[in-house]
Amino acid sequence: MTTYLIVGSGLFGSVFADQMAKNGHRVTVLEKRNHIAGNIYTEEVNGIQVHKYGAHIFHTSNKKIWDYINQFATFNRFTNTPMAFSKGRLYNLPFNMHTFHSLWGVKTPEEAKAKIAEQTKDYEERNPNNLEEQALSLVGKDIYEALIKEYTEKQWGKPCTELPAFIIKRLPIRFTFDNNYFNDLYQGIPIGGYTQIVEKMLAHPNIEIELMTDFLGNKKEWLEKFDRVVYTGMIDEFYDYCFGELEYRSLDFVHEQLPYGNYQGNAVVNYIDKDIPYTRIIEHKHFESGNQPQTIITKEYPKEWQKGEEPFYPVNDQKNQKIYDKYMSLAKNEPQVVFGGRLGMYRYFDMHQVIEEALNLSSKMLSST
Ligand code: FAD
Ligand code: UDP
Repeated sequence: MTTYLIVGSGLFGSVFADQMAKNGHRVTVLEKRNHIAGNIYTEEVNGIQVHKYGAHIFHTSNKKIWDYINQFATFNRFTNTPMAFSKGRLYNLPFNMHTFHSLWGVKTPEEAKAKIAEQTKDYEERNPNNLEEQALSLVGKDIYEALIKEYTEKQWGKPCTELPAFIIKRLPIRFTFDNNYFNDLYQGIPIGGYTQIVEKMLAHPNIEIELMTDFLGNKKEWLEKFDRVVYTGMIDEFYDYCFGELEYRSLDFVHEQLPYGNYQGNAVVNYIDKDIPYTRIIEHKHFESGNQPQTIITKEYPKEWQKGEEPFYPVNDQKNQKIYDKYMSLAKNEPQVVFGGRLGMYRYFDMHQVIEEALNLSSKMLSST
């Protein structure tokens, strides 16, 4: 039996804890917040599951991951079909025939392809160096200006010419009338929210949980007490920023309860224009088709990350990657500690990727003990 300290009760730490506990190891989970589940935490308010840290839609094409998560909740058949509000008009996302029709009046895939080809021809041969070039080469100027540029600059707080190209590749482009945001085979929302999933993962007699406890407040003592440590907080903070700060993007979530049955008719509406300070409004009841007389919405305001703020997004550009590599060179010489999750690995992971990474790490560690 090995003793494990897991720092962080988010999805990574909880999947890892579940696996180790089931295999007979003793696990302590430390969490500095006053609740478990990290950023997938949901809370019931007047019968509505509120996603406290932004909309979380589960999607994967990996059957193993889908079967794994379905042990802990029943998923509904929610399909993410966000809308985008730009300069007084609403468009369908991801970019598809509805979007092309609203923008240009085109009615067939052939007409839409011709329009995009005309706008992307100058960029075809070039290897995109940044997000702006990537967007212009994929969808052309009209879509870039109507639906990407201002949203992206607001979200990341930098010009699109200074952002990595991969961010925009998350958005599909389709020549069909399909508004499904994700291309994955499996998608849904856990009926009753995400917190129950983490509760069940951590409900093993071999697991102890300590809330409101910051590992870094007593780093030396914690390291002495346990055989192995899995750290899912910020890797630069763990090393006291000795190679400088990694860059993150933070967010403010402003929740409002309103006396309407239906505020915006959709779970997610994006706001593109730069003079609107938030990027999205989430109406939570639409994740689970609620028929409550009132509604709860959340506005998502992007903001600069500073020490003490929640680091919601890693900024995976080359400058930060170099800093991260330096921290990893320290981590490689520290066999007691392994870094996991969005912050420990400094990667823009979705939930299914976090689960996959945690399952891989646990099976590697189980086979070596
Ligand atoms: P976290 O959830 O951040 O957990 C880390 C935990 O460690 C936190 O609870 C933190 O408090 C704790 N911690 C950190 N440092 C310490 C310390 N020193 N001591 C003690 N505790 C510590 N993914 C999807 O698949 N679909 C979506 O629709 C989706 N939407 C998203 C929307 C937003 C706004 C954001 C920010 C993310 C979204 N994601 C989505 C991604 C998803 O949230 C992550 O993949 C997942 O939650 C990461 O889990 P994690 O355990 O790595 O990190
Ligand atoms: N994006 C955009 N317009 C939109 C929605 C997204 O330009 O209406 C871009 C933006 O750069 C964003 C990226 O696509 O950072 C990924 O967006 P998504 O909503 O998929 O990611 P999330 O913020 O949920 O991780």
